[in-house]
Amino acid sequence: MEKEKDTATRHVWERLDEEERRTALAFCDGYREFLSTAKTERETVDFLTERARKNGFAPLHDFGGLKPGDRVFLSARGKIMAMAVMGREPLEQGLNIVGAHVDAPRLDLKPRPLYEEAGLALFKTHYYGGVKKYQWVAIPLALHGVVVKGDGQVVSLVIGEIEGDPVFTIADLLPHLAKDQMEKKMSEAITGEALNIIVGGFPVAEREVKERVKKAVIEHLAQNYGVREEDFVSAELEAVPAWPARDIGFDRSMIGGYGQDDRSSVYTALQAILQQDVPRRTAVALFADKEEIGSAGNTGMQSVFLVNFVAELAGRCLPQYSDLALRRILSSTRAISADVTAGLNPSYPDVMDKYNAPLLGHGVVISKYTGARGKSGASDAHAEFVAFVRGLFDREGVVWQTGELGKVDQGGGGTIAYLMAQHGMDVLDVGVPLLGMHSPFEVASKMDIYMAYKGFRAFYRSV
Ligand code: MN
Ligand code: MN
Repeated sequence: MEKEKDTATRHVWERLDEEERRTALAFCDGYREFLSTAKTERETVDFLTERARKNGFAPLHDFGGLKPGDRVFLSARGKIMAMAVMGREPLEQGLNIVGAHVDAPRLDLKPRPLYEEAGLALFKTHYYGGVKKYQWVAIPLALHGVVVKGDGQVVSLVIGEIEGDPVFTIADLLPHLAKDQMEKKMSEAITGEALNIIVGGFPVAEREVKERVKKAVIEHLAQNYGVREEDFVSAELEAVPAWPARDIGFDRSMIGGYGQDDRSSVYTALQAILQQDVPRRTAVALFADKEEIGSAGNTGMQSVFLVNFVAELAGRCLPQYSDLALRRILSSTRAISADVTAGLNPSYPDVMDKYNAPLLGHGVVISKYTGARGKSGASDAHAEFVAFVRGLFDREGVVWQTGELGKVDQGGGGTIAYLMAQHGMDVLDVGVPLLGMHSPFEVASKMDIYMAYKGFRAFYRSV
């Protein structure tokens, strides 16, 4: 019992020797770089694919059959991906899956985004995921994404990330004239239709043209990217914070950056599976899209992607593939739903139950359930599986704590856990506690990031 008490109250920093402290900090240097470069779901899957190939993984469809130690990956539409390292045990014994999500809250451009008003050219946006809209004004924004032209040609854009690039922004109202705005509720003070991004201010020379600033932007897009105004209809352009991830604090103990929900899980799960040589049970890292809007679509966790991936593995491993065999594999699988949770914010302790709130720097968080108002929407892991994971973490030196997403009836949230559980597998929510989740600059402790990695690595080795 004494050990468990320690786990809940002592900082990870105090529990590591000098060497492991250095290892943890170095691990987070790579993580910070990743956060600064992969800011969209497509960029994240591109990053994962590149790292997979560099580390001996090959496309699943290159394999006729599979043997222990084989490293494979599969992706769909550039937005969802799975990696596997084949284990020594037969697939029917089940897989060890760590599942994270690659999408993050942001501002998407509307299909007809460009207009001119008050001498400025602007883009209309429709926010994606649960954002506090007031956080997205008066900050530098970068544009990432693709424009697919009528003939199918794909134009990839990243503007606002490198030195010398321009950035974009949404102008807020000055305090001098904000009397009415300041009296509104925070949820209404900035409306969705006010999230309009300033993209240009110079007019074209021709005086007879009606919207001369808008025209200048259209000409710029045509000249520099070969993109026409109507091409926005078939585009996915996302406005994201233009800043890189940074160390936070005099002691550099934390990382601040955009998209740590859920790229903290993505990076740690990736590094954990790259470490697997020939595991006992087949190890799978799953990276899903669309979690922030309900996991819908053919790249979200509600889709058949995971089942199809496991079927593709089974088809290459089993002497006789059958639906029954597939069901047996899925229902004997163990999974971690890797996602972030809320850390206790010292300025807002009242939204948490202090006896069940995770603290930054105190380890990776095990959440038996998520959900809201009576656990609604939760997967709620079985006590037996929670015991399995905590026992494993204790044996492997993974510092962990328990957590609950806020006080009962204060709010709540969900992850992909319940969608994985539908296939019969045991699933537990495990992840990094954040401050300012879903904000343009989320805060995580380096110690928790490192412990997430260590935890996922241990999970992959578990039998
Ligand atoms: Mn998440
Ligand atoms: Mn989220």
